[in-house]
Amino acid sequence: MTHQKKDITAIVIGAGIAGLSSAIRLAAKGVHVTVLEQQDTYGGKMGVWEQDGYRYDTGPSLFTMPQYVNELLTIDGKSDVTFEYDELENIGNYFWEDGTQMTATKDVEQLKDEFLKQLSEPKENIDAYLADSKIKFEITNHVFLEKSLHKLKTYLSWGTVKSFFRLSKVDIFKNMNAQNELRFNNPKTVQFFNRYATYNGSNPYQASATLNVIPHYEFGFGAFFPKKGIRSIADALYQKAIHLGVIFQFSTQVSKVEKIGERYIVNGDTESDILICNMDVASAAKGPLKNFVSSKRKKYEPSSSALIFYWGIDREFKELDLHNIFFSSDYKKEFKNIFHNRKIDNDPTVYIHISSKCKVDDAPVGCENWFVMVNAPYVAGQDWEKMINEARENILIKVSKRLGTDISRHIKLEHKLTPELIQSKTGSYKGALYGSSSNDRMAAFLRQPNFSSGHKGLYFCGGSVHPGGGIPLCLLSGKITTDIIAHDFKLY
Ligand SMILES: Cc1cc2nc3c(=O)[nH]c(=O)nc-3n(C[C@H](O)[C@H](O)[C@H](O)COP(=O)(O)OP(=O)(O)OC[C@H]3O[C@@H](n4cnc5c(N)ncnc54)[C@H](O)[C@@H]3O)c2cc1C
Repeated sequence: MTHQKKDITAIVIGAGIAGLSSAIRLAAKGVHVTVLEQQDTYGGKMGVWEQDGYRYDTGPSLFTMPQYVNELLTIDGKSDVTFEYDELENIGNYFWEDGTQMTATKDVEQLKDEFLKQLSEPKENIDAYLADSKIKFEITNHVFLEKSLHKLKTYLSWGTVKSFFRLSKVDIFKNMNAQNELRFNNPKTVQFFNRYATYNGSNPYQASATLNVIPHYEFGFGAFFPKKGIRSIADALYQKAIHLGVIFQFSTQVSKVEKIGERYIVNGDTESDILICNMDVASAAKGPLKNFVSSKRKKYEPSSSALIFYWGIDREFKELDLHNIFFSSDYKKEFKNIFHNRKIDNDPTVYIHISSKCKVDDAPVGCENWFVMVNAPYVAGQDWEKMINEARENILIKVSKRLGTDISRHIKLEHKLTPELIQSKTGSYKGALYGSSSNDRMAAFLRQPNFSSGHKGLYFCGGSVHPGGGIPLCLLSGKITTDIIAHDFKLY
């Protein structure tokens, strides 16, 4: 049946960034879109918290691929929503226990000089690694990240065929850490590049070397910071959705979905032709979509979670920048604890993000807003109170030692986000940050497809769905999903 566009209605469950991306794209195609969100605001994991002059982006802090946001904001040819950002010259400051320190810069020549100076890592090793990361990106991006992996059409295109011929270069069957150990002389350089596995919540000692593609996002395309903070990405997308006529119902938890004929009935009263699930698919499969998602999709290995302290610091630290990493001395042990023992290591790698370094009004004058994060296991019945108290102590000891001052004396404000809170606030299965982990080398193919093969009109987007978690991929999942809907419903 060919629909008139004006007849077509869609419900999106969840106002996370992938839900917003799908809503904008569908509304731009003339579909009537309603977003049902359980929280009283949009953005999902991309939250914000403010107190006593300190402002925090509570979720993502590293922003890459801003073009995906711009594409959404200009989708109807109008530039009616302002969104501005700066490219970072200094991407991050790295600190090791033995006093070694380095700064990663966008400028690759400077980056290579720094690796040579601080870690005695030969420049040609960095060149070879970054060239390999770029090749991995070129092979995987258009085929595996921008299209559905579960549609025959994807495999019939010339681009896919070309990528398949070059597939061995993606190193699916090699291990990330093992490949990095072969590439670099200094174990600290290995640790530096292994850390990119955490960008999708994976374990570098288990995941495939394909994840060595991730640094290309930072060093190939750059890292950015929105002038009004990360939350302004969600603000801009929400405004655009409103301009396009999307209706939002907040504080509305979807608890029941039925299908009568070709129509979806949500919570017994809201009907639509199209249903897009932006809530974590594993949680949806145990909840409102239990009759719609196949049982083999109901379980998956979640990605790691995180423990975050938001500290209001009463002084400034000149040695710190926007992104700072204090590495653990035994990275392998840290990941073994997270993924196998399901606990936070007693010497965790600590990431400190200070948005007031770029956006000065995020903290009172002379102060800094510290977002202090350690990788944590997903929720699996642990004694969280004990683990969180111990982690707090360990973080304070580590950072105080490295910065030469007792940090606890400078904390004037504290707020925290725990794996259990991530689970309860955003519906994320077991508190995972990025949906399923990519530890399995076939993870990309095992992830939930963007559509239901058994139920016409049912689609999925977001971090638990192809192509995966993180801001760029979530925005792409919204695109892949709506491209499939456009085809299915002839929205041309
Ligand atoms: C602490 C933290 C740090 C991160 N750091 C980075 C980073 O630096 N860079 C990066 O790119 N990414 C980062 N991420 C990951 C990134 O934030 C996520 O991948 C992305 O925001 C997920 O978006 P989403 O649309 O999939 O879903 P979510 O943000 O999870 O949104 C899902 C929405 O669905 C709603 N919902 C759930 N169940 C229901 C229901 N039954 N009814 C109605 N609504 C429902 C939820 O309330 C939520 O609003 C981080 C995440 C966290 C938590």
